[in-house]
Amino acid sequence: MSETQQAQLRCLECGRTAPRNGDWGEATHPTLGTMTQCPECGSTNVQSRQP
Ligand SMILES: [Zn+2]
Repeated sequence: MSETQQAQLRCLECGRTAPRNGDWGEATHPTLGTMTQCPECGSTNVQSRQP
């Protein structure tokens, strides 16, 4: 549990990378539940990058 190792999220559509607790949006999917949404392109094709 290190506070310096923040999980990064990366948008696969536009390549945006920001910390998980950054300014990502949220979208609700009918079957998948809450998904992270890119604030720049609106895509939910966002993947977490583990260090
Ligand atoms: Zn994006």
